[in-house]
Amino acid sequence: MSDCIFCKIIQGDIPCNKVYEDEHVLAFHDIAPKADTHILVIPKQHIVNLSATTEDEWPIVTKVLQSINKVAAQENLEGFRVISNNGEKGGQEVFHMHWHVLAGSKLTGF
Ligand code: 5GP
Ligand code: ZN
Repeated sequence: MSDCIFCKIIQGDIPCNKVYEDEHVLAFHDIAPKADTHILVIPKQHIVNLSATTEDEWPIVTKVLQSINKVAAQENLEGFRVISNNGEKGGQEVFHMHWHVLAGSKLTGF
């Protein structure tokens, strides 16, 4: 999508601090980290969020979730928290599905 900031990152029009990439998934550090480690994991396909996911898109969502394990292993995360804000009232600001992977000493209860 032309006006989507994460699509622009995928296309290389906006730089990112890349952590992991494969055919379907890109992971990069959040620009405003909320924990010692704060990585965003996104599908390369523009999917708005979980609520908007269509039947044919679920395999992509699965690939994104699988890649979170790869990112965690690669970054030596002993434990981590995964969050996907869904919809404006769910705290979603960027309407391209993304999974926050949070880890580190600042991580406490929510
Ligand atoms: P949301 O509130 O939609 O769940 O989270 C969006 C996240 O994207 C926020 O944590 C925000 O800091 C991050 N973000 C927004 N714009 C950029 C950007 O241009 N680059 C990176 N790396 N992160 C961004
Ligand atoms: Zn997008």
